[in-house]
Amino acid sequence: MLKPDNPNAFTRSPLDRAGLKRRDTAWLEGALNAGESRLLPFYQHRPFVMDEGGVVAPGWLNGGAHKHFGAKKTLFLGLDAAGVAYFAFEVADEAQFEGLGRFDDLRALGPRLSRDDLANIGPAKSVFEWHAKNGFCANCGVESLIAEGGWRRDCPSCKTEHYPRVDPVCIMVPTFGDKVLLGRQKAWPRGMHSALAGFIEPGEAIEEAVARETLEEAGLVVREVRMHSTQPWPFPHSLMIGVLCEVENDRETVDTTELESARWFTREEARQLIAGKHAECWAPPPFAIAHQLLKTWAAE
Ligand SMILES: [Zn+2]
Repeated sequence: MLKPDNPNAFTRSPLDRAGLKRRDTAWLEGALNAGESRLLPFYQHRPFVMDEGGVVAPGWLNGGAHKHFGAKKTLFLGLDAAGVAYFAFEVADEAQFEGLGRFDDLRALGPRLSRDDLANIGPAKSVFEWHAKNGFCANCGVESLIAEGGWRRDCPSCKTEHYPRVDPVCIMVPTFGDKVLLGRQKAWPRGMHSALAGFIEPGEAIEEAVARETLEEAGLVVREVRMHSTQPWPFPHSLMIGVLCEVENDRETVDTTELESARWFTREEARQLIAGKHAECWAPPPFAIAHQLLKTWAAE
């Protein structure tokens, strides 16, 4: 069930991506330099933010800022409802921004930024990370060139076009009757429990990946898969596909190479986890799709 009221952070961007404008290089150049345009700097994949009265917000700069700060690359993000163009640009040096604001980690910032801010910034984080690791043609090895407003790299030698990658990940909460299974990894903070997850492999349907991962990680056989929602997750460029799955029994066998442990929670406990009121354990914040999956099941 994919809903237009997607509850997940990084979705429902207020911007129109205006994909057809990406190939209009003269228009892009004009928009980058137009005073009313909004440009957000990035340094080492961290967005530029400013604090105003304890509220943190992206530090959008005016058109032309990319030149002033010597941008290495720019990315056209889209147009807002008033037709104002939004861009992100990447700089090689953060010292010149001293006193204006700071570059900060998006994962740490996430829960403090607004829904619109996250939806605007997420794509830039993913695309800049992709550029950083894909400077050379995967087909012939020649250095490739940025095209399409930052959304493609073209090889000048063999002419192959390279597009930013998206890695699909299934993320699921196995349920059995009135209980839900959450796992925990050794590296996580004490008490934290979350959904199971894994990358979808080539040739796999989503529900097949859900069944395989649930069996591998928890030794449980999936009987029924219910799609919940999806979330672009820019760390670095995953697409989380959220699922509730009913399993055959509650006799889990944890694969300790992936998980430290797993634990069944009653529906009442799931409600406590969502409210942050469980005595021993806690679940990820609303920023993460795992929270939304658990919340939906807890409310049923
Ligand atoms: Zn090539």
